[in-house]
Amino acid sequence: MTVSIAERYIRAAHGVNLHKDGFIDAYYGNPDWTQPLSSNLNDLAIELEHLQNDVLEVDSLERRGYLSVQIRAMQTMVKLKRGDSISFLEEVKGLHDISPIRTPESLFEAAHQKLEALLPGNGTLNDRIQLSRAKFKIDPNQVRAVIDVISLELQQRTKKMFGLPDHESCQYALVQNKPWGGYNWYLGTGCSRIEVNTDLPQFVTDLPDLVAHESYPGHHCEHVKKEQKLVLENNWQEFGIQLLDSPESVLAEGIATSALGVVMDKFELAQWIGGELGKIAGLNLSLEEVQTELQIQHARADLNYAACNAALMLFEEFQPEAKVLEYLRHHQLLTSTQADKRLEFIHHARAYVYTYTSGYDLLEPLLGGNDKLSWFKRLLEQPATPSQLKSWALETRASKP
Ligand SMILES: [Zn+2]
Repeated sequence: MTVSIAERYIRAAHGVNLHKDGFIDAYYGNPDWTQPLSSNLNDLAIELEHLQNDVLEVDSLERRGYLSVQIRAMQTMVKLKRGDSISFLEEVKGLHDISPIRTPESLFEAAHQKLEALLPGNGTLNDRIQLSRAKFKIDPNQVRAVIDVISLELQQRTKKMFGLPDHESCQYALVQNKPWGGYNWYLGTGCSRIEVNTDLPQFVTDLPDLVAHESYPGHHCEHVKKEQKLVLENNWQEFGIQLLDSPESVLAEGIATSALGVVMDKFELAQWIGGELGKIAGLNLSLEEVQTELQIQHARADLNYAACNAALMLFEEFQPEAKVLEYLRHHQLLTSTQADKRLEFIHHARAYVYTYTSGYDLLEPLLGGNDKLSWFKRLLEQPATPSQLKSWALETRASKP
């Protein structure tokens, strides 16, 4: 009996996972396929080469394109674990199908100027940002209640706009001692466990984005839709596994970072935070101060590109850590402790640092126009690769009058 492409792909991923813990983010398929055919890196490299060749025979163009870049990510991970000499840019391209370029510092300077205008006063800009944020801090005992209200509203909107099966659900858990703010663990059959890290204080201005990112219409929604359309309807079992260090993460983080804006506009969001959510959180907020805080958040989002530049400085240009720390402090407006933490994250995440910003940027031209909802639905339900997104964006731009 011939072994299917999907089974070979899933078994190979479990082989790679033996060498890179956490390479598999989620798997809810056939339990027998968790046994790798090869565990040795050289054998895995040969197995993946054969698989890559055989994928050329796959009928569907979109499925073939997806499998090809996903397998290339596994091949790149094998090379990295074997100690092959590849540059950081080759690593990012191989793992994620993107080619990062350095963001000009003028973007950060412009964001600093916007923040100065929004937060006039004395003290460092970072101090003023933290002070302004403080009034949106939620009592830890109220965090769960706020999350539940947000989740229900976003679930209803997502269901109406994109359709969701009746049996799907998200279970939330507040956890501590984690390196991330929130995490989606997809369990299959339409269910996710969403963990929210409460090590750091939670702010009512951040939670809608966090819930949209992890749940509706972000990670959970994408998993549910792809399980329904690709795994169950098409029997493309490879969509029942998610590989963290791979191109699908760029798409997933692009969907998740755009999620809130797709289901709710900025004014409605400010009204919601200043009204219903503020009340549940026990805060007395005016619409105006919420709007200002959301503008501050928006300006600060541009500073995330400084961390992407920092990764290039470290891994491509081999600049000294002290210089990179100074760069982060100055451009991303971090304190020394925050810059140390960010550097630690960059070392840990390496190429993954780019998935959020690149994912957002690749989707932005598609979601910025009148076809926003049909594009978002398509991305939730169909396979796509970062290169494919890039060419769709170029086509969309070219077709605009
Ligand atoms: Zn995410």
